[in-house]
Amino acid sequence: MKDIGSSASSSSSPMINETMYANFDNDLSEVVCDKIKITETEDNFDAFYVADMGDIVRKHKIWKALLPRVQPFYAVKCNDNAEVLKVLAKLGTGFDCASKGEIQKVLDLGVSSDRIIYANPCKQSSHIKYAARHHVEFMTFDNETELLKVKEYHPNAKLVVRILPPASDKCQCELGMKFGCHLKHVAKLLQLAKKLELDVIGVSFHVGSGCYDSNAYLSAVKSAHEVFSVAHSEGFQFNLLDIGGGFPGQPNAKLSFNEIVDVLKPALDALFPEESGVQIIAEPGRFFVASAFTLAVSVISSRQVPSEIQGGEPSYMHYVNDGVYGSFNCILFDHAEVEALLPELKKYEDQPLYQCSLWGPTCDGLDCIIKDCRLPRLTTGDWLVFKDMGAYTMSAASCFNGMPKPKCYYFMKNVVMELLNDDAHDIVCCSLVANVAATTLILQPPLSSSPVNLMDYNFLKAGH
Ligand code: PLP
Repeated sequence: MKDIGSSASSSSSPMINETMYANFDNDLSEVVCDKIKITETEDNFDAFYVADMGDIVRKHKIWKALLPRVQPFYAVKCNDNAEVLKVLAKLGTGFDCASKGEIQKVLDLGVSSDRIIYANPCKQSSHIKYAARHHVEFMTFDNETELLKVKEYHPNAKLVVRILPPASDKCQCELGMKFGCHLKHVAKLLQLAKKLELDVIGVSFHVGSGCYDSNAYLSAVKSAHEVFSVAHSEGFQFNLLDIGGGFPGQPNAKLSFNEIVDVLKPALDALFPEESGVQIIAEPGRFFVASAFTLAVSVISSRQVPSEIQGGEPSYMHYVNDGVYGSFNCILFDHAEVEALLPELKKYEDQPLYQCSLWGPTCDGLDCIIKDCRLPRLTTGDWLVFKDMGAYTMSAASCFNGMPKPKCYYFMKNVVMELLNDDAHDIVCCSLVANVAATTLILQPPLSSSPVNLMDYNFLKAGH
């Protein structure tokens, strides 16, 4: 059944216009629309992701160009998708892991243990033992209990004290209420480390995830510099600075990566110059993956809000096949704001817009994606697209109510591959060879009826 509810229309409703598509770039739109066509031909309207691996490579290039002295250790928690990890491993990044499971995932890719920092200040003892067995030495701490555990289970660890940077509430997710040693307690912590004969080698901080205050980085770097002096007084010779994460990953962020770099880089150059010999690392998560992933969901049901509730013009509730228990957990956990886009302009041309709400597929009333937006009249099988869905989405998604997680389809534009030459070839190959048996290759020929030139894209494969 295609059509649901009555076909009410309103002459006073605003009409659909180009602005609804303005943020949906042409290339990406072609890939998504093409995949939608393939999905529909298979009579399968499941939600899916398309992941532009070229976007991750591009981000890496930007990072290297703007912060060449800062080695990124990708925060696995942000998106632990195996293909993402493989591409980043191939590009040579390090990894920030928060648990035994994440460490295992990264080690399984053949990444050496010195490219991992176990950056969780409060660790389960068995996970510390696992890190010790696998020679993962870099780890953060911010309290005495942790030092005692490390002494017992991993006495050769290279420890990094995580400090509490000056508070800034200009971030999507604050972390300071949970982690970080106040500056005035650092000396005491270091004295205990000395007594336990533990090797503390540096300082880390995290200004908050999704930070939109470049001064937060400046203040944190200054605090870290003070802690280097404290450490010196306590008999330590620090040589590592870890500036954490927080860097934006989507193009419409409140503060751009460049704006952060404009403040951060001079601060690093002044307080931790190259001659100091201090190695600088960071733990970016969303920076690398947010914009690489686009989610397409289909409408599974709709209903018109009864006029006695709504009054005035008709409004609709649309139910789609991914929700806050799945990818849109980012709305609850990451305080993300999402925007529904229409993939196919022509289909809705000249149609009026209606007030509507979007709901996920589970039976829970909490499962609301957007409370109030304006869309044309949608029916079962229509598609909506959400951009910038790579960060803190699928890594925390559940299958609550038996709802499947969307599959991912990976692609890299030929033009990007040409630009990247051998690098890209290696990346594509590394993405293709592993686990081929467990996934489906989708190197499909262009559909004859499709206006899209699929040859412009190299679809890699689908996987969960
Ligand atoms: N490092 C640590 C310790 C974190 O807790 C987080 C996120 O919560 C990150 C890095 C990544 O932060 P972001 O994705 O904002 O870069």
